[in-house]
Amino acid sequence: MKAYSLLALARNGLAWQKDWQRAWRSPDPAAAYDVVIIGGGGHGLATAYYLATQCGVNKVAVIEKGWLGGGNTGRNTTIVRSNYLLDASAGIYEHAIKLWEGLSQELNYNVMFSQRGLLHLAHSVHDMQEIGRRGNAIHLNGIDSEFLTPQQVQQMVPFINLNCRYPVMGGLLQKRGGTARHDAVAWGYARGADAAGVDIIQNCEVTGFQIENNKVVGVDTTRGRIGAGKVGVVTAGHSSVLAEMAGFRLPLESYPLQAWVSEPIKPIIDCVVMSNGIHVYVSQSDKGELVVGAGSDAYNSYSQRGSFDLIEHTVGPLVELFPLFSRLRMLRQWAGIVDVTVDRSPILSKTPVENLFFNCGWGTGGFKATPGSGHAFAHSIAAGSMNEIAAPFSIDRFNSGALIDEGAAAAVAH
Ligand SMILES: Cc1cc2nc3c(=O)[nH]c(=O)nc-3n(C[C@H](O)[C@H](O)[C@H](O)COP(=O)(O)OP(=O)(O)OC[C@H]3O[C@@H](n4cnc5c(N)ncnc54)[C@H](O)[C@@H]3O)c2cc1C
Repeated sequence: MKAYSLLALARNGLAWQKDWQRAWRSPDPAAAYDVVIIGGGGHGLATAYYLATQCGVNKVAVIEKGWLGGGNTGRNTTIVRSNYLLDASAGIYEHAIKLWEGLSQELNYNVMFSQRGLLHLAHSVHDMQEIGRRGNAIHLNGIDSEFLTPQQVQQMVPFINLNCRYPVMGGLLQKRGGTARHDAVAWGYARGADAAGVDIIQNCEVTGFQIENNKVVGVDTTRGRIGAGKVGVVTAGHSSVLAEMAGFRLPLESYPLQAWVSEPIKPIIDCVVMSNGIHVYVSQSDKGELVVGAGSDAYNSYSQRGSFDLIEHTVGPLVELFPLFSRLRMLRQWAGIVDVTVDRSPILSKTPVENLFFNCGWGTGGFKATPGSGHAFAHSIAAGSMNEIAAPFSIDRFNSGALIDEGAAAAVAH
């Protein structure tokens, strides 16, 4: 892999940009691999990257039914934070933030990680108690967070309407939180994985598993059978479909989750503002668009469109908090399908089928975990058992009752 550098930029500029290498190859599938990863989103590509670069696994393939990052990786609102309540969550999301902090250098690819600060607003006594409890728990886990008074909130976001219908009573700020460019994350990992020898096979759908004596030995795809020593499934909103193919059920429900961007405007908001109480969050992209999101639709669906009522229920709180945004036009709306567990925490786990691993259930908030999830999953697959960071997220917790109930901790869990 040639490094991207200032020199390369100048040289290719002089050559009319014709000499850039392809960022990754498009090989035909080999007959068999040591590890097959299903799903070419950020988590799948990160897993493949760490398997090849850190775990000494030589023959790895990523099989993607569409194009890289065309799933939730390219559909999310790019929020990154690690200010979760429970120890297991703090473990994996903080592991991810530490990797985010060096990711552009590690991949030699600008993922535009911007630690612009992430502010959770509190609008009621209950909200104040919630951020108090969570802020203290976060501190005990050694993660940064600060309480802000309404005046400090106003200083940070000068044009916010503190006296909205549910007045702003305070805030919880994680300065190391922020945003990253989502598709660059997929492309950076893809480029790094390819350079380490991973075969990335796009437009190839997995349609079944080859299982012998309760052990996975390969996958059926639209491009034929591919043998595999181990298989990692990282297919976000379609994980239950893949589990069904392997003959078991996962405790997941799939919902559409929507997002919106406005027309671009000059820089106006330089942090991420989230309100769980009135249910909206907003940040500004480098292009100037306001990136807006809220909760998932109320019904199960695989349609990537979303419902009309949620548009109204998101724009309402947005203009309540920021009346001057009422004059903006929305440019685009879309949805992705998120797979949600009962405790709103992910599943990184072995399964009832030997050598078949699942990484899913990230629901509305898995983008921020991409490097940490890929790293923990890769090391677990290579070792054949879940590592310390991944172990609490086993599917066994739904039998044992050892749930990681972040749902109650953050109504908007992005
Ligand atoms: C609107 C929206 C906003 C969000 N906002 C945030 C946010 O601000 N912060 C945050 O942390 N998270 C957010 N999320 C959640 C986040 O996007 C996801 O948790 C994360 O991107 C999941 O990544 P992934 O790599 O697991 O999945 P994906 O990127 O969805 O990748 C899975 C891939 O599997 C492929 N696949 C499926 N079935 C098959 C098959 N049979 N064969 C081969 N390939 C298959 C799909 O085509 C897809 O490319 C948001 C999600 C949405 C939809």
